[in-house]
Amino acid sequence: MNNMNTEGKLGIALVGLGNYSENELAPALQETQHCYLAGLVTGSPDKADKWKKKYNIPDKNIYDYKTFDTIKDNPDIDIVYVVLPNAMHAEYVIRAAKAGKHVICEKPMAITVEECDQMIAACAAAGKMLSIGYRLHFEPHNLGMMRIGKEKPFGSIVKMTAENGMGDTKGWRLDKVLAGGGPLMDLGIYCVQGCRYTTGMEPVAVTAKEAAKTNPEKFTTVEEGLSWVMEFPDNIKAACTTSYSKEMNKLRAEAQNGWAELSPAYEYRGIKGETSKGKMDFPQVNQQAKQMDDFADAIKNKRPTPVPGEMGRQDVKILQAIYKAMESGQRVEII
Ligand code: NAD
Repeated sequence: MNNMNTEGKLGIALVGLGNYSENELAPALQETQHCYLAGLVTGSPDKADKWKKKYNIPDKNIYDYKTFDTIKDNPDIDIVYVVLPNAMHAEYVIRAAKAGKHVICEKPMAITVEECDQMIAACAAAGKMLSIGYRLHFEPHNLGMMRIGKEKPFGSIVKMTAENGMGDTKGWRLDKVLAGGGPLMDLGIYCVQGCRYTTGMEPVAVTAKEAAKTNPEKFTTVEEGLSWVMEFPDNIKAACTTSYSKEMNKLRAEAQNGWAELSPAYEYRGIKGETSKGKMDFPQVNQQAKQMDDFADAIKNKRPTPVPGEMGRQDVKILQAIYKAMESGQRVEII
């Protein structure tokens, strides 16, 4: 694989060769028009060996976490894509920017707003672009929800509902130090995003309640589940739920004269949508290929990305407010 013509395409190096890189990003990079898989950064020599054979990557484009900074001398790499556990995003985005590379960072952008500020500042200082891996901004059904909020075919939105949960998880996602929190950081962020991009508004306050733990031995440092309500302007409320022990996947908008719902809303493939007028009829796309191509095109054409670091920062700010509301039991304003 990776035998396509790379001429005119920007080279991407993936940092962290875990599930998302292996099963989604690398395959997507076989379909992209404006970028290609040019390099790897991994702490595991076995993975480096396997990947270099599979994707025909030259040794000079393979780094480990110690040699990573020398990527600055490699003209094959234009974009560094950080796909590490959440708490490691800030360090690697900042190092990539200092190495003079454009950066894509996976969601959640970081685990604190202060880190987000440092990441944005590092990319700005280097004169490089920063985007967040918000693939649903390139997915037709989710784009349809954005249009419904903006063009108001059913009148103004009056209420949102968003749910995203998985039946199980393991590894670093259960460790607050590496993940920054539980399902809210990993899955609930899609609900925050969905409500923001559908309404086109920013939440002004939040209340939240942690779900009772059914498995306290497993969920020692992070929540097992959480429900929260975001208050938007115009008295619009968004009721959201996330969980690591219950499958859920929905984004719904109630408007004055109708409704629209995606279910599943946030999957990599098979997204389905319906409105009060009937089924949505949009094509399935490779979301990751579209997302990476759009960023490469933005760099080439010197235009802004629709999913910049500032958008990731705003989500982290909202996530922090939700945790504060959960811990205090109080309504927390988002200023
Ligand atoms: P993963 O556990 O499968 O992979 C993590 C990678 O980081 C592994 O290769 C691991 O070796 C490496 N790593 C380096 N230092 C580590 C450490 N100290 N502890 C644990 N792993 C370490 O995780 P993933 O599912 O690929 O997620 C990686 C990132 O991508 C996360 O930020 C996640 O939120 C994000 N993600 C985004 C999407 C999306 O749809 N946009 C989907 C999945 C994951």
